Amino acid sequence: VDSGEESQLPKVLMATVKGDVHDIGKNIVGVVLQCNNFEVIDLGVMVHASEILDTARKENVDIIGLSGLITPSLDEMCHVAAEMERQDFHLPLMIGGATTSKVHTAVKINPNYKKGQAVYVTDASRAVGVASQLVSEDKANAYMAGIRDDYEAIAERHAAGRQKKQRQSIADARANKVPIQWTGYDAPTPSFLGAKVFDDYDLTELTNYIDWTPFFQTWELAGTFPAILEDATVGDAATQLYNDAQDMLQKIIDEKWLTAEAVIGFWPANAVQDDDLDVYTNEDRDQVQATVHTLRQQMKKTSGRANYALADFVAPAETGIKDYIGGFAVTAGIGEKEKADAFKAAHDDYSAILFQALADRLAEALAERMHERVRKEFWGYASDEAFSNEDLIAESYQGIRPAPGYPACPDHTEKATLWQLLNAENAIGVKLTESFAMWPGASVSGFYFAHPQAEYFGVGKIEQDQVADYAERKGDTRASIERWLAPNLNYTPDT
Ligand code: SAH
Repeated sequence: VDSGEESQLPKVLMATVKGDVHDIGKNIVGVVLQCNNFEVIDLGVMVHASEILDTARKENVDIIGLSGLITPSLDEMCHVAAEMERQDFHLPLMIGGATTSKVHTAVKINPNYKKGQAVYVTDASRAVGVASQLVSEDKANAYMAGIRDDYEAIAERHAAGRQKKQRQSIADARANKVPIQWTGYDAPTPSFLGAKVFDDYDLTELTNYIDWTPFFQTWELAGTFPAILEDATVGDAATQLYNDAQDMLQKIIDEKWLTAEAVIGFWPANAVQDDDLDVYTNEDRDQVQATVHTLRQQMKKTSGRANYALADFVAPAETGIKDYIGGFAVTAGIGEKEKADAFKAAHDDYSAILFQALADRLAEALAERMHERVRKEFWGYASDEAFSNEDLIAESYQGIRPAPGYPACPDHTEKATLWQLLNAENAIGVKLTESFAMWPGASVSGFYFAHPQAEYFGVGKIEQDQVADYAERKGDTRASIERWLAPNLNYTPDT
């Protein structure tokens, strides 16, 4: 609230960095700080470094807080820190959001900003304690010096630890791919090829597919649904929140506050050169319309386990098997920004956050429901499937829907290929930002793999030989790939 008077409260400037749309965690931190006598200026999402720093100067703030959800934002946060150093800032810089960590802050952000101090904040409940120390006249200097020492020690341990981890060459990793017996494999044929759009998806159908546990995590209430409602510590708070959520969910449906859209597709595909998936224009399989590039685990396996890559789950071209890959993009975020902004304008932050959390839940529920329909109807390889919501949440089904940017396929830029195959922006109105985040934020996308041995895994740390090979396959420079895959590198790039 701008009273026109000079505020005596310490000021925190908050922003989600360029290319990222993550909002809820930042909004919660903002509310918590405001309730504890901080003035919060929230610049919203997708904010460029220049806007953050210009505003910080103009508003004479005491702290800058950066938020981000996806891995490319880690790099952007390093950039903001370097800009603060270059522009002679001395303000403390708070770092938060799902992929951020104390180690990343210590190893990558802290060294970029010597004139002030970067501080990692684990979650909203810690934000007030950290911010209070940072603006305390008598405690701030000692507090920041302690953090600096701590971060330097973490960075040293990190460098030492990394050298010890044993990796193998990409050639050896490929020789240890997932052992799938292709001879005699009968690849299921999808009921259609190409993309299919589902307009204005029925929200009522989705309510039974909601996974409520992550909803409570958003509010930093720990526990599994439905037991959390009876929890000795957080049960009362969880129950009230859940009742409010049910009421709002009914309004979202009755008053059409949100519109859901989905697009799914199937294409003839085969694995080529071990780690790539050629997606063919049609069943002749002589024309490649796109190539999905996958990354392979390079850790040394002692347990007899394979070195996984997603390409392993699709029949290699030389088998002659007519195999397929699927893809999807879904959103429940059409109308989200307008309604959330209306709540914020009415100073109803609680409803704004509740609403955004429900939009996210509906998007995940739509992804779950579409995947079920894919298995039962559209790809049809599990037509007899009859799982409960608990079974679906536990991923009891055959096949997977890995999402670019997640551990099995950490390269966010592969979403460009998915968007092209699905024509997703036209089909459902979901855009990709320059960091390949989806906008609106309440959106989910991924590939479908049907093979019974397909499972989720993490690529983990990879070596320069694979990065060089991957860059060549994608027609990109090694430096560019190293930027996108920075969190996965087992070495320090020389640029
Ligand atoms: N029930 C959860 C589902 C989200 S997390 C919810 O409502 O929030 C599960 C999804 O994340 C998966 O369906 C998949 O799309 C993605 N995912 C999880 N682990 C993954 C991995 N290792 N690699 C790629 N994608 C993964």
